[in-house]
Amino acid sequence: MVATVLVVEDEYKLRQLLRSYFERDGMVVYTTGSGAEALAISRRGPLDLVVLDLGLPDLPGEEVLRELRQVDSTPVLVLTARSEEKDRIAGLELGADDYVTKPFSPRELVLRARAILRRGVPNGQPERGPASYGQGNLVIDEEHHRVSVRGQEVELTPTEWGILLTLARTPGRPYSRYELINLVRGYEYEGYERTVNSHVKNLRQKIEQEPAHPVLVETVLGLGYRLGVDRDR
Ligand code: CA
Repeated sequence: MVATVLVVEDEYKLRQLLRSYFERDGMVVYTTGSGAEALAISRRGPLDLVVLDLGLPDLPGEEVLRELRQVDSTPVLVLTARSEEKDRIAGLELGADDYVTKPFSPRELVLRARAILRRGVPNGQPERGPASYGQGNLVIDEEHHRVSVRGQEVELTPTEWGILLTLARTPGRPYSRYELINLVRGYEYEGYERTVNSHVKNLRQKIEQEPAHPVLVETVLGLGYRLGVDRDR
Protein backbone atom coordinates (compact mmCIF):
# COMPACT_ATOMS: atom_id res chain seq x y z
CA MET A 1 0.00 0.00 0.00
CA VAL A 2 1.34 3.42 -0.98
CA ALA A 3 0.74 6.04 1.69
CA THR A 4 -0.55 9.49 0.77
CA VAL A 5 0.78 12.34 2.86
CA LEU A 6 -0.13 16.03 2.88
CA VAL A 7 2.58 18.46 3.99
CA VAL A 8 1.23 21.81 5.22
CA GLU A 9 4.15 24.18 5.68
CA ASP A 10 4.47 27.79 4.57
CA GLU A 11 8.28 27.85 4.38
CA TYR A 12 8.97 26.95 0.77
CA LYS A 13 12.39 25.39 1.35
CA LEU A 14 11.24 23.21 4.20
CA ARG A 15 8.15 22.16 2.26
CA GLN A 16 10.29 21.05 -0.69
CA LEU A 17 12.74 19.28 1.60
CA LEU A 18 9.94 17.31 3.25
CA ARG A 19 8.45 16.50 -0.14
CA SER A 20 11.73 15.02 -1.34
CA TYR A 21 12.22 12.98 1.85
CA PHE A 22 8.71 11.52 1.77
CA GLU A 23 8.93 10.83 -1.96
CA ARG A 24 12.22 9.05 -1.46
CA ASP A 25 10.38 6.95 1.12
CA GLY A 26 7.89 5.93 -1.58
CA MET A 27 4.95 8.06 -0.47
CA VAL A 28 2.58 10.11 -2.61
CA VAL A 29 3.00 13.71 -1.46
CA TYR A 30 0.74 16.76 -1.64
CA THR A 31 2.06 20.08 -0.39
CA THR A 32 0.58 23.44 0.44
CA GLY A 33 1.53 26.53 2.41
CA SER A 34 -2.04 27.44 3.27
CA GLY A 35 -4.34 26.13 5.96
CA ALA A 36 -7.47 26.77 3.91
CA GLU A 37 -6.05 24.84 0.98
CA ALA A 38 -5.03 22.02 3.30
CA LEU A 39 -8.63 21.67 4.45
CA ALA A 40 -9.84 21.71 0.84
CA ILE A 41 -7.36 18.95 -0.08
CA SER A 42 -8.39 16.86 2.92
CA ARG A 43 -12.03 17.00 1.86
CA ARG A 44 -11.18 15.81 -1.64
CA GLY A 45 -10.08 12.33 -0.65
CA PRO A 46 -8.60 10.18 2.07
CA LEU A 47 -5.10 10.95 3.32
CA ASP A 48 -2.95 8.59 5.35
CA LEU A 49 -1.11 11.36 7.15
CA VAL A 50 -1.06 15.15 7.47
CA VAL A 51 2.15 16.90 8.52
CA LEU A 52 0.94 20.26 9.81
CA ASP A 53 2.94 23.35 10.66
CA LEU A 54 1.09 25.23 13.39
CA GLY A 55 2.43 28.63 12.31
CA LEU A 56 0.57 29.27 9.05
CA PRO A 57 -0.06 32.68 7.47
CA ASP A 58 -3.79 32.35 6.78
CA LEU A 59 -5.31 30.26 9.60
CA PRO A 60 -4.14 29.30 13.07
CA GLY A 61 -2.70 25.78 12.85
CA GLU A 62 -4.81 24.77 15.86
CA GLU A 63 -7.94 25.63 13.89
CA VAL A 64 -6.77 23.61 10.89
CA LEU A 65 -6.08 20.67 13.22
CA ARG A 66 -9.52 20.94 14.81
CA GLU A 67 -11.22 21.00 11.41
CA LEU A 68 -9.14 18.11 10.09
CA ARG A 69 -10.32 16.13 13.09
CA GLN A 70 -13.92 16.87 12.18
CA VAL A 71 -13.46 15.46 8.68
CA ASP A 72 -12.20 12.08 9.87
CA SER A 73 -9.52 10.52 12.00
CA THR A 74 -6.61 11.16 9.63
CA PRO A 75 -3.38 11.01 11.63
CA VAL A 76 -1.74 14.40 12.14
CA LEU A 77 1.89 15.08 12.94
CA VAL A 78 2.30 18.65 14.14
CA LEU A 79 5.34 20.83 13.39
CA THR A 80 6.04 23.93 15.35
CA ALA A 81 8.72 26.46 16.05
CA ARG A 82 7.14 27.01 19.43
CA SER A 83 8.75 24.78 21.97
CA GLU A 84 6.83 25.96 24.98
CA GLU A 85 5.23 23.27 27.05
CA LYS A 86 1.76 24.82 26.84
CA ASP A 87 1.86 24.85 23.03
CA ARG A 88 2.94 21.22 22.94
CA ILE A 89 0.16 20.22 25.26
CA ALA A 90 -2.43 22.27 23.35
CA GLY A 91 -1.51 20.45 20.13
CA LEU A 92 -1.68 17.05 21.75
CA GLU A 93 -4.98 17.81 23.44
CA LEU A 94 -6.43 18.66 20.07
CA GLY A 95 -5.54 15.11 19.12
CA ALA A 96 -2.28 15.38 17.19
CA ASP A 97 -0.64 11.97 16.96
CA ASP A 98 2.84 13.30 17.33
CA TYR A 99 4.64 16.57 17.76
CA VAL A 100 7.99 17.74 16.37
CA THR A 101 9.66 21.00 17.36
CA LYS A 102 11.73 22.93 14.81
CA PRO A 103 14.54 22.63 14.02
CA PHE A 104 14.30 18.89 13.42
CA SER A 105 16.04 16.30 11.33
CA PRO A 106 13.93 15.34 8.27
CA ARG A 107 15.14 11.77 8.65
CA GLU A 108 13.73 11.61 12.17
CA LEU A 109 10.47 13.15 10.98
CA VAL A 110 10.11 10.44 8.32
CA LEU A 111 10.75 7.76 10.97
CA ARG A 112 8.06 9.23 13.17
CA ALA A 113 5.68 9.46 10.21
CA ARG A 114 6.29 5.79 9.46
CA ALA A 115 5.62 4.90 13.09
CA ILE A 116 2.26 6.70 12.87
CA LEU A 117 1.44 4.95 9.59
CA ARG A 118 1.95 1.58 11.25
CA ARG A 119 -1.20 2.68 13.02
CA GLY A 120 -0.02 2.07 16.51
CA VAL A 121 -0.83 -1.61 16.31
CA PRO A 122 0.87 -3.46 19.14
CA ASN A 123 3.21 -6.28 18.23
CA GLY A 124 1.76 -9.66 17.40
CA GLN A 125 -0.70 -11.02 14.89
CA PRO A 126 -3.97 -9.13 14.60
CA GLU A 127 -6.88 -11.07 16.00
CA ARG A 128 -9.33 -12.55 13.52
CA GLY A 129 -12.93 -11.56 14.01
CA PRO A 130 -14.34 -8.96 16.39
CA ALA A 131 -13.75 -9.25 20.14
CA SER A 132 -16.46 -8.13 22.53
CA TYR A 133 -16.04 -6.70 26.03
CA GLY A 134 -18.35 -5.73 28.90
CA GLN A 135 -21.50 -7.52 27.68
CA GLY A 136 -21.07 -6.22 24.17
CA ASN A 137 -20.63 -2.60 25.21
CA LEU A 138 -17.28 -2.44 23.50
CA VAL A 139 -16.49 -4.33 20.30
CA ILE A 140 -13.04 -4.21 18.73
CA ASP A 141 -12.58 -5.58 15.24
CA GLU A 142 -8.83 -5.51 14.93
CA GLU A 143 -8.67 -7.06 11.49
CA HIS A 144 -10.91 -4.41 9.95
CA HIS A 145 -9.69 -1.62 12.22
CA ARG A 146 -13.12 -0.84 13.68
CA VAL A 147 -14.37 -0.03 17.16
CA SER A 148 -17.98 0.21 18.28
CA VAL A 149 -19.29 1.37 21.60
CA ARG A 150 -22.86 0.48 22.56
CA GLY A 151 -23.50 -0.48 18.95
CA GLN A 152 -22.21 2.80 17.55
CA GLU A 153 -19.04 2.87 15.47
CA VAL A 154 -16.46 5.42 16.66
CA GLU A 155 -13.53 6.92 14.76
CA LEU A 156 -10.25 6.76 16.65
CA THR A 157 -6.92 8.33 15.80
CA PRO A 158 -4.03 5.86 15.41
CA THR A 159 -2.72 6.69 18.88
CA GLU A 160 -6.13 6.26 20.53
CA TRP A 161 -6.58 2.98 18.64
CA GLY A 162 -3.15 1.76 19.77
CA ILE A 163 -3.84 2.59 23.41
CA LEU A 164 -7.24 0.91 23.40
CA LEU A 165 -5.95 -2.17 21.59
CA THR A 166 -3.06 -2.49 24.00
CA LEU A 167 -5.33 -2.26 27.06
CA ALA A 168 -7.75 -4.76 25.52
CA ARG A 169 -5.03 -7.36 25.04
CA THR A 170 -5.26 -8.14 28.75
CA PRO A 171 -8.40 -6.66 30.33
CA GLY A 172 -7.87 -5.63 33.94
CA ARG A 173 -4.07 -5.57 33.72
CA PRO A 174 -2.70 -2.11 34.52
CA TYR A 175 -0.38 -0.59 31.91
CA SER A 176 1.93 2.24 32.89
CA ARG A 177 2.03 5.39 30.76
CA TYR A 178 5.62 4.54 29.90
CA GLU A 179 4.58 1.11 28.67
CA LEU A 180 1.69 2.50 26.66
CA ILE A 181 3.75 5.09 24.80
CA ASN A 182 6.43 2.51 24.09
CA LEU A 183 4.01 -0.11 22.86
CA VAL A 184 2.00 2.34 20.81
CA ARG A 185 4.74 4.44 19.27
CA GLY A 186 7.77 2.20 19.56
CA TYR A 187 9.80 4.89 21.23
CA GLU A 188 9.75 7.15 24.21
CA TYR A 189 10.16 10.88 24.32
CA GLU A 190 10.03 13.81 26.64
CA GLY A 191 6.61 14.60 27.99
CA TYR A 192 5.22 11.14 27.28
CA GLU A 193 3.20 11.02 30.51
CA ARG A 194 1.14 14.07 29.64
CA THR A 195 0.91 12.87 26.05
CA VAL A 196 -0.64 9.59 27.12
CA ASN A 197 -3.00 11.44 29.46
CA SER A 198 -4.16 13.71 26.62
CA HIS A 199 -4.83 10.81 24.28
CA VAL A 200 -6.69 8.89 26.98
CA LYS A 201 -8.78 12.01 27.65
CA ASN A 202 -9.71 12.22 23.95
CA LEU A 203 -10.35 8.48 23.79
CA ARG A 204 -12.71 8.70 26.75
CA GLN A 205 -14.65 11.51 25.08
CA LYS A 206 -15.33 9.10 22.24
CA ILE A 207 -16.06 5.85 24.05
CA GLU A 208 -17.25 6.59 27.57
CA GLN A 209 -20.87 7.36 28.35
CA GLU A 210 -19.70 9.75 31.07
CA PRO A 211 -16.09 10.69 30.30
CA ALA A 212 -15.67 12.14 33.81
CA HIS A 213 -16.62 8.74 35.29
CA PRO A 214 -14.92 6.28 32.95
CA VAL A 215 -15.78 2.58 33.14
CA LEU A 216 -14.02 1.29 30.02
CA VAL A 217 -10.61 2.93 30.34
CA GLU A 218 -9.92 3.17 34.06
CA THR A 219 -7.15 5.11 35.75
CA VAL A 220 -4.79 3.12 37.94
CA LEU A 221 -3.57 5.71 40.42
CA GLY A 222 0.14 6.39 40.34
CA LEU A 223 0.64 4.01 37.44
CA GLY A 224 -1.45 4.33 34.32
CA TYR A 225 -4.56 2.76 32.85
CA ARG A 226 -6.39 -0.51 32.43
CA LEU A 227 -9.43 -1.83 30.58
CA GLY A 228 -12.21 -1.86 33.17
CA VAL A 229 -14.42 -4.47 31.51
CA ASP A 230 -13.91 -8.19 30.93
CA ARG A 231 -13.84 -9.91 27.62
CA ASP A 232 -17.11 -11.68 26.81
CA ARG A 233 -17.05 -15.42 26.29
CA1 CA B 1 5.38 28.47 9.57
